[in-house]
Amino acid sequence: MPTDPVLVVHGGAWAIPDDMVEAHLAGVRNAMRAGWHALSRGGSALDAVEEAVVIMEDDETFDAGRGSFLNREGKVQLDALIMDGATLRAGGVGCVERLRNPVRAARKILSDSPHVYFVAEGAERFAEEHGIPLCKNEDLIIAREVERLREFQARSAGENADLFAPTISHDTVGAVALDCEGYIAAATSTGGTLNKAPGRLGDSSLIGCGCYADNRTAAASTTGWGEPIMKLVLAKWAADRVASGSLPEWVALEAINYLESRLNGHGGMILLDARGRFGIAHNTPRMAWALKTTGQEAAGIQR
Ligand code: ASP
Repeated sequence: MPTDPVLVVHGGAWAIPDDMVEAHLAGVRNAMRAGWHALSRGGSALDAVEEAVVIMEDDETFDAGRGSFLNREGKVQLDALIMDGATLRAGGVGCVERLRNPVRAARKILSDSPHVYFVAEGAERFAEEHGIPLCKNEDLIIAREVERLREFQARSAGENADLFAPTISHDTVGAVALDCEGYIAAATSTGGTLNKAPGRLGDSSLIGCGCYADNRTAAASTTGWGEPIMKLVLAKWAADRVASGSLPEWVALEAINYLESRLNGHGGMILLDARGRFGIAHNTPRMAWALKTTGQEAAGIQR
């Protein structure tokens, strides 16, 4: 039975400063348009979340792709996951240093590999063998982030003193979509946390933590301080609650309350079920989001 498509995207949950609001809103709107373009041409939910995330990976505003936070050694290390709610197929990459669009490699893993997850050089080799060109790590680094790392390291003398405050930037990007066939999908992509240890993997690219999709439950993408989100397997936690009858709108709020009450975590979530019902929630001062349905189009930095 044909379904009305739905697309929701986010561009990170934190205290987005006033002078960065416009860039965040423009970024999530552009992502929403690209994802919607795919959906309205009969593309799948998977196509929509991939295209939406690529736009935000290419946008230096966000902590994904070029312009991401630097790790302790001044390198960009990227993680991404994409998941198909129709089949439960998934593709993930972690700690990649030479991919402009990790979500494209994740999609290739989903479609062309019997495996689900590749990390570091193995992920880059897989991508190259499947026609995705590699870049240099320096191509992903921008001056703003070199300066941000320098300042952070000078302030904290290398310790992660204030790394986990809700005001610290969390510009991870993600999307959830429902297509005309009634299938849902989710994708999340990140550069992780500022000054992270090399090899540190966050929640974003882990199934059920930063990203999840199952047509019988829901599609979810999260952002925020990754370690607590991982410990609670938060995306799957939320999807399961939708399956047991709760509205995504409420479940997204409950999930973020649970994150805060259980582990003092902070972040945000977008959640969508196969009936097109969605939720957007965060406990940080702001979160960039945009959504589109056949009858509604909106974007904001607060919910
Ligand atoms: N969740 C991401 C991580 O911990 C960071 C973010 O959302 O900005 O890697």
